[in-house]
Amino acid sequence: MNTKPAILGGPKVREMAFPPRVTMGSQEIEEVSKVIDSEVLSAFLGGPGKFFKGGKYVKMFEDKWAEMYGFKHAISVNSWTNGLIVGIGAVGIQPGDEVICSPYTMSASATCAFFYGGIPVFADIDPHTYSLDPKSIEEKITPRTKAIVVVHLFGGCADMDPIMEIARKHNIKVIEDAAQSPGVKYKGRPVGAIGDIGGFSLNFHKHIHTGEGGMLVTNDDELAMRARLIRNHGENSIEAYGIKNISNVIGANHRLTELQAAVGIHQLDKLENYLEIRKRLALHLADRLDTLKGIDAKQNIENGDHAFYVFPVKYDAQEVGLSRSLFLKAVHAEFPKPDGFEATVLTEGYVAPLYYNEVYQQQIAIGDKGFPFSTNPDVTYDYSKGICPVTEDMHHKTFLGIPVVREPLTIQDMDEIFEAFKKVIENSEAIKNAFPEENLSEEVFVPLKAANESNIT
Ligand SMILES: *Cc1c(COP(=O)(O)O)cnc(C)c1O
Repeated sequence: MNTKPAILGGPKVREMAFPPRVTMGSQEIEEVSKVIDSEVLSAFLGGPGKFFKGGKYVKMFEDKWAEMYGFKHAISVNSWTNGLIVGIGAVGIQPGDEVICSPYTMSASATCAFFYGGIPVFADIDPHTYSLDPKSIEEKITPRTKAIVVVHLFGGCADMDPIMEIARKHNIKVIEDAAQSPGVKYKGRPVGAIGDIGGFSLNFHKHIHTGEGGMLVTNDDELAMRARLIRNHGENSIEAYGIKNISNVIGANHRLTELQAAVGIHQLDKLENYLEIRKRLALHLADRLDTLKGIDAKQNIENGDHAFYVFPVKYDAQEVGLSRSLFLKAVHAEFPKPDGFEATVLTEGYVAPLYYNEVYQQQIAIGDKGFPFSTNPDVTYDYSKGICPVTEDMHHKTFLGIPVVREPLTIQDMDEIFEAFKKVIENSEAIKNAFPEENLSEEVFVPLKAANESNIT
């Protein structure tokens, strides 16, 4: 094999683009056709009665999900972003309440708090789980803390036992953002309803999808009722359903259509198989990559499964002798130019720490007078660089993501990813010498692609 790196003019490890995912099949098509023939593309009505909980397919989809994973309630929503907003409303967040959030996640995991006047307060992540570090959570708790949004990032799971212990001790609600971890169990318990309420995303990029959509889950009857009210114009149903706690139940329209539910029913049948494939590929890749100097591919699997939405790697620029961005460029050169959403073999960092966003920097979210940050007049909120050092280290220096550890790729494809890493690392000296100006010291700030340019959402 010619081992000259492609970035220095050698042959690529791979000439052909990675094949795209194909998740939709004849069953989805047939089921959707039935819905179209029925004319009932959505059966929801915005008031009490038979159609308050939606139509036939929505109910079938929800029941199927609940039964498969042992959730008492599964409540579909038209996006998981809206599911998070529903969750924040259901647990009773009020203006001025603080909600502890992760800064290393999709933006909605924190902005959901704003919709009820809650203030996101960022705790740092644990470098092994990439999810909230229980110790950091504890440091951020104040008398105003009313909820924690725990994100199970990249398909792994947060360390829920200590998080739940802290939450119960301080009487704080826990919302699990398991968008990237459908079907994952933590110590045998399905993520999503280990806390009070949680759920999954069904957007196009996720393991299974309905275009847009989400599934909220909870084992708590009252939270389920409140979530259903917020999902569907709850103000109209207060009297008929004898709702006592009417705070936050003014509703919106967060309803999934029958069309999407018809697709979702068959997508759900495929989930376990997808998870198995991802796990098999990932464990193989982890074993191989972990043998390379400067690459830490150990995975967060001691406490349960991993859905490998993204395969996470930690990179040590000092050990490899290449800046992370030059390493990325050299690995990319070993593959054809990414074409479409799904073909990027490697991403540098994930998203910028959420508090870098102008919303937090300027503290302007709802209206232009500083609400909700200004709600507690004696309290000032700090979103300056440095508040979450582990997250910042991941973003600026350490993290590499491989988003293609999924069907229909094969073990052989994983070996090619390994070969590309190996070739670049073994030739780091020559690459460095060829691109001296690009091998900046890691102290120099390297501007990263904005979150919305990366193909991970
Ligand atoms: C995808 C995702 C969301 C948002 O889900 P949508 O269905 O796209 O609204 C929220 N949190 C995380 C961690 C996600 O990955």
